[in-house]
Amino acid sequence: MIIKLDDTLINFCGLQSNDQNDSQIFELLADVRIRGFHFVIGSRKLLRLLGSSKFISEKAKKLYQKLYNNYTTEMAISASVDFTLNIIDSKKSNTTNDIFIDIHDLNDNTFLLRNKLLLENTVDSNIYSEIINKYITQNSLNAIQYNWDVSMGGGTTTHNEFKRITNENLTYTLCVLDSDKTSPHSNLGGTALQFITKPILTDFGEFYILPVHEMENLYPVEIISAISNGIPKFIKNKKIINKLSTNKNCDSFCYIDLKKGLNIYTLYNLNVDCRDYWINIFDKIGYNTKKCSCIDKNCRHFLIYPFGRNIADEIIDFVSKIGVNIKDLLNSIYEEIWLEIGKLLFEKFCCPKFIPNI
Ligand SMILES: [Zn+2]
Repeated sequence: MIIKLDDTLINFCGLQSNDQNDSQIFELLADVRIRGFHFVIGSRKLLRLLGSSKFISEKAKKLYQKLYNNYTTEMAISASVDFTLNIIDSKKSNTTNDIFIDIHDLNDNTFLLRNKLLLENTVDSNIYSEIINKYITQNSLNAIQYNWDVSMGGGTTTHNEFKRITNENLTYTLCVLDSDKTSPHSNLGGTALQFITKPILTDFGEFYILPVHEMENLYPVEIISAISNGIPKFIKNKKIINKLSTNKNCDSFCYIDLKKGLNIYTLYNLNVDCRDYWINIFDKIGYNTKKCSCIDKNCRHFLIYPFGRNIADEIIDFVSKIGVNIKDLLNSIYEEIWLEIGKLLFEKFCCPKFIPNI
């Protein structure tokens, strides 16, 4: 992430005077930059003053001198990333791309960590690595690194976990939530809805609701099709998945509950819009969705059989065995979703190389 030292700190910290100043923040951020956790930028004037300040350590001074001398190179990141976290003398309102943090809200260790990627149900961030790498390649950003610390929110406790982490004022957290939507117009699931109905006000993080049912639905249609054709235990889904994937409605893959599949009982217990959405799709590919007499969700009349809880692991294993590159299999729907998420991830988790021997 980019951390910008705002020019208002010059007067606030007495950098232009001989008064003892509040130099701790500059020591801290020098350390953050040296270790390569975040980019640290500021105006030439501010960097020059810091490079000659008598109130900070030799090591920190050397760092700021280096940033001043390499100003153009260090600032180049701003051309590739819209999001900036600004440290300022007193709080002002955030905008879409700029967060403003009051210097008083920092503590001795703020930002001396990777930013956190808080996920709902899994610590497996494989798909997010694929997505950020796609964004990096597509935008020729290969010279810039990224890194994150993945945390698990645990589904229903994700809201509490996000609140707890962001309250520490230690690191910036991007929380990615499943939408649990079962059709394009369906309601959000409980966890995502909780973030909207009980907003957590913080400058140290944000949440993002996936535009698909859940994380597993970020794997492109071709991959779901490939595992249905290629993994024996999923063979029962071969026909339906192949039919759905050749249908014009392959955006339905964004909303399939891949883990649980879809049976007739569940279909008829969806809200009316979602039910009509799916019945329409199955009609188009010639599938009978006639109601069965089952009285609970244990109904075995599956339209789509469950891929099970470990589908993401199965995909990763399969992909590594057949040696295919997931990034090359995106249709236009997935391309758009991946680039949106890729931008978000890159902005929050880009980082510079650490500086040895300073
Ligand atoms: Zn049934």
